[in-house]
Amino acid sequence: MDKAMPKSSEVFQANRDRAAPLLAKLRADGIGHLIGGEIVPSISGETFETKSPIDSAVLAPVARGGAEDIDRAATVAAQAFKAWRDMPATMRKKLLHRVADAIEERADDIAVLECIDTGQAHRFMAKAAIRGAENFRFFADKCTDARDGLNMPSDEHWNVSTRVPIGPVGVITPWNTPFMLSTWKIAPALAAGCTVVHKPAEWSPVTADLLAKLVKQAGVPDGVLNTVHGIGEEAGKALTQHPAIKAIGFVGESSTGSAIMAQGAPTLKRVHFELGGKNPVIVFDDADMECALDAVVFMIYSLNGERCTSSSRLLVQETIADKFIEKLTARVKALKVGHPLDPATEIGPLIHERHLEKVCSYFDVARKDGAVIAVGGRTHDGPGGGHYVQPTLVTGAHAGMRIAQEEVFGPFLTVIPFRDEKNAVEIANDVQYGLTGYVWTSDMGRALRVADALEAGMIWLNSENVRHLPTPFGGMKSSGIGRDGGDYSFDFYMETKHVSLAKGTHRIQRLGVPSS
Ligand code: NAD
Repeated sequence: MDKAMPKSSEVFQANRDRAAPLLAKLRADGIGHLIGGEIVPSISGETFETKSPIDSAVLAPVARGGAEDIDRAATVAAQAFKAWRDMPATMRKKLLHRVADAIEERADDIAVLECIDTGQAHRFMAKAAIRGAENFRFFADKCTDARDGLNMPSDEHWNVSTRVPIGPVGVITPWNTPFMLSTWKIAPALAAGCTVVHKPAEWSPVTADLLAKLVKQAGVPDGVLNTVHGIGEEAGKALTQHPAIKAIGFVGESSTGSAIMAQGAPTLKRVHFELGGKNPVIVFDDADMECALDAVVFMIYSLNGERCTSSSRLLVQETIADKFIEKLTARVKALKVGHPLDPATEIGPLIHERHLEKVCSYFDVARKDGAVIAVGGRTHDGPGGGHYVQPTLVTGAHAGMRIAQEEVFGPFLTVIPFRDEKNAVEIANDVQYGLTGYVWTSDMGRALRVADALEAGMIWLNSENVRHLPTPFGGMKSSGIGRDGGDYSFDFYMETKHVSLAKGTHRIQRLGVPSS
């Protein structure tokens, strides 16, 4: 007979039991930088506290890096670069697979720590660590073709291109799904042969610390991955300005992207930006209603809505708007807000009190603009008294309102009805962002026309966001610069070099030869 599934309350308790010794160790050890293979405090000795959004408990003192710590890390990354670049690709591949093994072994620990540090629900974080390991495996396998190029023969030359790693790079990551996102940026950089200085988000340093230790434990040479914790304006800014750092891979807000571009200008930094979004999900009246409903709810209320690819604008065709909103309202009312370690929880507390304030400020913005808060619209009294908010659904909105234009980055959905295909595309494109778009229709011709017309880097037709690692990931307009994923990542972390070999058949113009 099959073993009975454990009860939800038993899983909740098991998660808490798993977290308790990890948290005790974290509090005792604190979080230091990893520089040149050593865990070190800041040169200044300064620290800041990282707190849990569940109950504001201090999780650990964290080293507060400054320009001098970044200088140390960048210097070490520059010293380690040549040996890492020149290591046989098969060896680099083996080491990155070992990192993936190490992540998989600690996946359950990573999941509970991420829940406690960020407020994300365990049902999603359980898979985030595994996704992190997959990122390392995928790029480990690509190590051996990272240098591949093209063969472009001309009449008298054999022309080939090859790629070489750009050098030591900076990776700056945000607090939403920080473990998965860090691996997503760091794995391709290491596979390309770059060394890395990582500056994780100050609101979620815990799993970045664990990642650094797992990379070291896997045998990646000292100095290849360095992690410097600290505040964006301090450690982050210094990293973008350091002359030894050749490129910055950044994930975060669009306004921070602008600042980084300016900060990196004097040292001519190459930049890769994955920025904000205000993504539309467009539901036509011929769509599969139940699937569309599932996807609409999932893509804004999973991960607390703190997700760059969330579909935060629902564009629904007027002919079905009332019926669709009625069903949607029932689903949003039934969402379970709770403790992140409880497997039944669908929405946990938001990352930080300042972010809670930002999300809640949009309730007033919605009311002032004349929209209707159909569900939610206030904070939620959750376990631990943390930064909980009610999942919120806003109807009666139109495209010009702030709630239809600005990224709220919480469980907050704005519904805008549309007339026809042309009107849907106009509304969808009428924002500064262009990250993703989702289209629901049974008319394939229309699906393709709309996909073509949407100003967004990634479009899903009759699907929620399902990531396939070889595909290009990135945004248009204010949502980003460049693409990640598959070979696209190597375009950023590597320089393309052209080598031309003469066939010995061409004549070189002769200058300085007296004419006879
Ligand atoms: P943020 O821009 O405030 O911070 C991101 C990182 O940048 C942090 O590590 C921070 O310390 C650092 N930073 C801040 N100021 C800096 C400066 N002047 N110089 C250098 N570094 C600096 O973003 P956030 O609030 O942590 O994250 C949420 C944002 O990230 C949202 O806008 C979201 O849409 C975006 N995001 C985008 C993607 C994507 O793939 N497009 C993915 C995840 C998150």
